[in-house]
Amino acid sequence: MGYDYLTAYISASAIRENLRLLRQRVAPGVQFCPAVKCNAYGHGLKEVVSILAGQVDCLAVATPAEALQLRDLRYDDPVLLLLPAGADDDAMDIPALLAELLRRGVTLTVTSLQQLRAIEFAAGNREASVHVKVDSGMTRSGVPADDAKALVEAIRAAKNVRLAGIYTHLACADEADKTSARQQLAKFDAVLAECDIHPGDGIVRHAANSPGVIDLPESHYDMVRPGVSLYGYHSSDEMHHRPPLKPCMRLCGPLLQMRRVAPGTRCGYGLTHTFSQAGVVGVVPVGYGDGYPRALSNRGIMRIGGREVPVRGRVSMDQTIIDVSDIPNARVGMEVEIISADENAPNSVAGLCRMLETIPQEVTTRLGHRIERIVVE
Ligand SMILES: *Cc1c(COP(=O)(O)O)cnc(C)c1O
Repeated sequence: MGYDYLTAYISASAIRENLRLLRQRVAPGVQFCPAVKCNAYGHGLKEVVSILAGQVDCLAVATPAEALQLRDLRYDDPVLLLLPAGADDDAMDIPALLAELLRRGVTLTVTSLQQLRAIEFAAGNREASVHVKVDSGMTRSGVPADDAKALVEAIRAAKNVRLAGIYTHLACADEADKTSARQQLAKFDAVLAECDIHPGDGIVRHAANSPGVIDLPESHYDMVRPGVSLYGYHSSDEMHHRPPLKPCMRLCGPLLQMRRVAPGTRCGYGLTHTFSQAGVVGVVPVGYGDGYPRALSNRGIMRIGGREVPVRGRVSMDQTIIDVSDIPNARVGMEVEIISADENAPNSVAGLCRMLETIPQEVTTRLGHRIERIVVE
């Protein structure tokens, strides 16, 4: 046990079940490359990797540091770095970074000729393995579809760079109307044809994020890259299919302090809540510094022994006040469930998202470093 108060219990069986549900939607032989970027969406990279190791074909991360963290964890299987490793100019110390990534066998994403030149240089007499990311309509990262052919040909001409894959990313796959996602896939298909890339020729084609995996079989190609669904959350309420994903995290902390309050007592920064009746409050050592949003001030719900208790006053950096007046057996040291793994609970990630008008991954990626992640069955 660590010396901090908060514990996130990460359920291995929930993650395995989610992986199974996702696999059910995908043809056999299609590879799995889950996204474990941003500390495995806040669930703990080390912990999630310990569950996924040996179960999947590849892991996707966003930054060079994340890729190297996987290698530091002795994850020896393929790692795909989703962001291009370096900018299109010399402002960063790219050669050293690239050399380290290549030395440790990280598969790089390329989106421009300039990046390709930098990779060729850094690879020396090693062979660099790269995927080309194509922008098929999201207008974020990726080589513009019109320039993809020239980039692919330059890679084929490079002696020490191997074109291992080509992919795109969908902007609207989680919407009920799949028109835009299908247009992106049509554009991606056109790029594949132009580049003479076909099934079975050893170049891994991929496009599907979670909503692609779940709702768009035509986006599966040779590999899929689910993120949020693997952790047990639904991408949106508009999805056509709703497999029974299991939230994999339960976040708990102890009831630290309790006290009686008289009618008229006010609490928290700004004294924004006034108790109309006598009652009992408790303090939970979680706050916005841990990723428990300040927007839940006077709105959030936690649970003690399965019973709901409201947040009173403002959430502060390290502490949140709850009203335990209706919990007669509440005692200092009792476990408070800050985030529930029961999707239907008001304090589930989905429940918090409804209050906060945001998406699950924003809630989970903000969970901070003071939370100890523990893998449970
Ligand atoms: C984050 C990410 C994913 C995973 O997306 P989810 O919606 O969480 O499934 C897949 N592909 C790319 C390129 C990403 O950046």
